[in-house]
Amino acid sequence: MTYDLVLEGHAFDATANFGYVYIGIENGRIAEISEKALDGRKIIRCSGNQIIMPGFINTHVHMREPGYTEAEGFKSYQRVAAAGGITTARDQPNNPGYPTTTRERLDEKSALAKAKAPFIDIGFIGGVRLDPEPDRDEMRRMAEVTNLFKIFWTRSVGNMHQPDILKRYGQIEAGYAILGELSEEMGKVLNMSNHCEYEELNTYGEWFHRDSEDPRALSWSRPGMGEGFEIKRALEFGKKYDVPVNICHLSTEDGKKVFDRNSLMKDWFELTGHHLLLCEEDITGPFRKMYPPLRPRSDMMAMRERINGYREGCQRPGDGVILAFDHAPHPKYKKEGGIWEASAGIPSDEHFGHVVAHLITEWGIHPKTAARISSWNASKFLGLITKGLIDEGYDADLVVLDLGKNYIVAPPYQTKCGWAPYAGTELGGKVSYTIAKGRLIFEDGEFRF
Ligand SMILES: [Zn+2]
Repeated sequence: MTYDLVLEGHAFDATANFGYVYIGIENGRIAEISEKALDGRKIIRCSGNQIIMPGFINTHVHMREPGYTEAEGFKSYQRVAAAGGITTARDQPNNPGYPTTTRERLDEKSALAKAKAPFIDIGFIGGVRLDPEPDRDEMRRMAEVTNLFKIFWTRSVGNMHQPDILKRYGQIEAGYAILGELSEEMGKVLNMSNHCEYEELNTYGEWFHRDSEDPRALSWSRPGMGEGFEIKRALEFGKKYDVPVNICHLSTEDGKKVFDRNSLMKDWFELTGHHLLLCEEDITGPFRKMYPPLRPRSDMMAMRERINGYREGCQRPGDGVILAFDHAPHPKYKKEGGIWEASAGIPSDEHFGHVVAHLITEWGIHPKTAARISSWNASKFLGLITKGLIDEGYDADLVVLDLGKNYIVAPPYQTKCGWAPYAGTELGGKVSYTIAKGRLIFEDGEFRF
């Protein structure tokens, strides 16, 4: 048998250290994993410090199309993803001026993504409209094509929150109740992602700190204690209506504790690269403005430790954690004003693989744990049945990391917005190859599409 492609080298996924194996790929699937040499029309030999892992799955991306394509678009995002080792990604609903809160928009985006970024598995999250109230009919129509929904507990880019506290919690609960009902009605699992910060604390914090020019005031203006507070409510709604909960970009030690004490096995939380690599003292100006903001060093260290930590009742390190970079590009001119006027969000996905390599080489995270949080957990959360592991019959979504070559973040960048928040940072490894559905799309710095 001569396969389309054979990858040989040391491979890891969330469940196994395979040792040195040969992976035979045919028709986009992993056809055979063998300890004996396999024949292929193309053979990629991974040696030295290279390791093979499942392609990364990022559940939290703002691809910006349509409506805000000066920042990013599906075509440019495909290059970003390939360079970062990402083979599956999910787009967030809060695009400025063009939120994904209707079935029509979901369909429009889906068609655009298929045409412009055919090699990456891109899916969409339905936004739950809170103002004036959740729209059950529209949510049902969206649930026919996606199992992912999102609620904003506070203001963020795209303004999808409910500013009136007297209405807010009732409407959020209504959103959960509808999702629980639809789930039963339609016989499918529907998940709720949550941007958890506390709106009233943010309003007060911004008013209180707005005269400060100290860039760290960005962090002080959105107090971390609000996160744990809203996470607790989200988990309670999830239990009450039997809806799996995903906490987006968890950023505080409090939030982590609340999650670990109150979550069920069906619940997840996302950790971003920036909350793992940077903290409050690294906020040098508006280019490092994002929501939630960078937090004090103690919070950053707690996030790092949690990767190897456990959820109550769990046995394996990294349980409940999804490494999900909140890739949220803005053009430079929107980041060049004052700290209060600048747009919130940073581009990050082309460095996804470098950061995963960094976790392994610099922080001593086992490659199996790295594969769990960068691929397998996300696959379970998204309900994907052929992704997230290296196994026969699974999609041939694979990434090869070179752990022997440090990488200094520098231009040129693939993101359309043309800048990187980690510029100048040295990360402990790089992406050598990205293979999506059996197709080699990135090879030693070159794109193959
Ligand atoms: Zn986001």
